[in-house]
Amino acid sequence: MAERVSETLHKKLSDRLGFYEDLGIQLFYRDRGAVAAPDTVRRLELPSVANFSTADLQEEQTLPKPAGKPALQKTAPAATPVSPKIVSLPVVAGPSLFESVEKIAGDTLLKTREDLGECTRCKLHSTRHKIVFGDGNPKAELVFVGEGPGADEDAQGLPFVGRAGKLLTQMIEAMGLQRKDVYICNVVKCRPPENRQPEEDEVRTCSPFLLRQIDVIAPKVIVCLGAVAAKTLLQTNRGISQFRGEWLEFRGRKLLATYHPAYLLRNPPAKSEVWKDLQKVMAVLGLEVKKGKSSS
Ligand code: URA
Repeated sequence: MAERVSETLHKKLSDRLGFYEDLGIQLFYRDRGAVAAPDTVRRLELPSVANFSTADLQEEQTLPKPAGKPALQKTAPAATPVSPKIVSLPVVAGPSLFESVEKIAGDTLLKTREDLGECTRCKLHSTRHKIVFGDGNPKAELVFVGEGPGADEDAQGLPFVGRAGKLLTQMIEAMGLQRKDVYICNVVKCRPPENRQPEEDEVRTCSPFLLRQIDVIAPKVIVCLGAVAAKTLLQTNRGISQFRGEWLEFRGRKLLATYHPAYLLRNPPAKSEVWKDLQKVMAVLGLEVKKGKSSS
């Protein structure tokens, strides 16, 4: 049975959970799910909203569907784009990952891919099968940046094609878009072994290619999926829970960080937060969310 907790304890629990999440200990919720108390924690950290069901074994099915359920208009842009207030975050001290990367005149995605070549610049090359450069519309207004390829992506050479990718596709479609309308890429282009997080030297080595992709595509909005992408582009040490859903800036472009789809697979209640974030993105892109039925 859940008990009410004091504001101080609430804050402590929120901070602690944010800390675990930033460490990548995302199964924390599920592991503790067998005992009673964390239900309280989960409710405190992840309030639900109307658009998503929260507990569903078929968690991929709980995102709004483009057809039928929450009636999202597919024609884009359908509404007047809004201009959000941009917040700035303090960056970490030291040389920026991106400062020294010069903008290349006449750069293209093809040229960037050619320059990447059969890359052996970092240790990830020795265990990867395929380089996962990126995929989608080279003129996309919306770019999603993930962390790094997993096993499915490594096998196919395409980003977000596994279980988390299926959920990302549903998220994109819930926005009234298709995968081919957006561009999807990762911080590192080769799979870290055992799906570990990319290490600092790997991120540093691969980032210039990500930067070139973003510069060439020149999207209106960048959505960082998860802490690794957010921390890399924003050059911040802060945990994602401190700035998730806020409008930030990356080299003059609007950036919003939200939870990684893999995190949502482990923690479906967080989908409501992500949907709120995506609705903010839709507003900026002028995509209309029709008020109406919510998904369940
Ligand atoms: N997770 C990521 O961050 N990127 C992918 O491409 C797939 C899973």
